[in-house]
Amino acid sequence: MSDVLSSEVVVIGGGVIGTAIAYYLCKEGAEVMIVEEDDLASGASGACDGFISLQTKQLGSHLDMARESAQLFPSLVEDIDVDIEYNPCGGLMLAKTAEQLKELKARAKKLKAAGLEVDILSPEEVESHIPGISKDIKGASYCAADAQVNPYKLALGLAQSAQNAGATILKGCKVENIVVTNNRVREVDTSAGSIHSRRVVCAAGTGSNQIGKMIIVDIPILPQRGQILVTEPREPMLNVIVSGAEYLGTKANIEELMPKEEEYAKLGLGFTAEQTASGNILLGSTREFAGFDNETTPDAINAIAKNAMDFIPWIKDLDVIRSFAGLRPYSPDGLPILGTVKGVKGFYMATGHAGDGVCLAPITGKLVSELVLDGETSMDIEPFSLYRFK
Ligand SMILES: Cc1cc2nc3c(=O)[nH]c(=O)nc-3n(C[C@H](O)[C@H](O)[C@H](O)COP(=O)(O)OP(=O)(O)OC[C@H]3O[C@@H](n4cnc5c(N)ncnc54)[C@H](O)[C@@H]3O)c2cc1C
Repeated sequence: MSDVLSSEVVVIGGGVIGTAIAYYLCKEGAEVMIVEEDDLASGASGACDGFISLQTKQLGSHLDMARESAQLFPSLVEDIDVDIEYNPCGGLMLAKTAEQLKELKARAKKLKAAGLEVDILSPEEVESHIPGISKDIKGASYCAADAQVNPYKLALGLAQSAQNAGATILKGCKVENIVVTNNRVREVDTSAGSIHSRRVVCAAGTGSNQIGKMIIVDIPILPQRGQILVTEPREPMLNVIVSGAEYLGTKANIEELMPKEEEYAKLGLGFTAEQTASGNILLGSTREFAGFDNETTPDAINAIAKNAMDFIPWIKDLDVIRSFAGLRPYSPDGLPILGTVKGVKGFYMATGHAGDGVCLAPITGKLVSELVLDGETSMDIEPFSLYRFK
């Protein structure tokens, strides 16, 4: 990149969040450049599950956003040339103890009152969804609106559509500095040269803290590691996305649903399983704070496998072919950080989606695009302001 480039908007980060923002900006005719230090979906978006899970969201703005987002997926399927493997399959959350089932029932009541259909299923009903499931299962909550998607293909598809609409994608190009003069963003300096731009969106995932430092703003994002096992591809065996109640416990910090075993508690282990369109079953997952170390670990791999077989005994008949770890961009309360910063015009944040970024990508893209182009959003994003932490 020799000449100085320019763009109406620069989006930092080519994960599901950055590409969704670029996609919606391009739909409105904006001139967009995605700057990605590695490759598209090389961060958390390429090392995660594809749950579009509504029943796991916090009541209030988080759930409202997720529901809006879920409704946008069918339009993406229509619009994007890449098959994003969207599957409106429904989701089960399994209880292994009476205490967990009580919690799930109470939660289902609140979710229903908020307008989300969540039913409590008996062990027999759970068995009809997942034949051969453990006899220890006491019941489950079932949300028909839960779905799944291929997150990697989602990011690639959104990026390709944005590119078809005129976006430029700079891969292997690291943002090193952001020039601000007279309280306004003017330029983005990258490893490949400078880009003149008056509007910059930080969708840098776990790199967001570094980006914030460039404009002297603390964006409090920590990497939260999650590890996953991948089985050999098989014929369709799992027709819902599945999680254990501990998954919600570790995700939303619900004391009653936290894993009781010390080993699992240390790893933040909660059971998840989904079968992808190619037939592989993804088994998860952990929630660990291990800095920027995105390697898998033997203790976690063993624990995930053991836990998965406790929920679904026939998992033992499948070969595990690989494992991977991703780093969730985690804010102090586990919710996204969306919006502007005080004193720096033209800088926007879309980060901190933690374990929900795939689900929330479409609505984040839409709302941030509105914010950048119109200065206001069709949904209230104030609950996700950076300043809730001050
Ligand atoms: C194990 C696991 C399971 C998960 N399961 C689910 C799930 O089922 N459903 C769900 O909704 N969510 C899930 N998530 C969460 C989801 O993966 C994330 O919330 C989402 O991918 C975050 O997307 P992002 O675009 O913000 O970040 P990322 O995908 O990490 O993208 C950020 C990008 O910014 C780039 N970048 C950083 N700094 C710079 C810089 N200085 N210059 C240029 N580029 C830079 C990075 O290279 C990276 O590609 C899971 C996560 C993990 C780890």
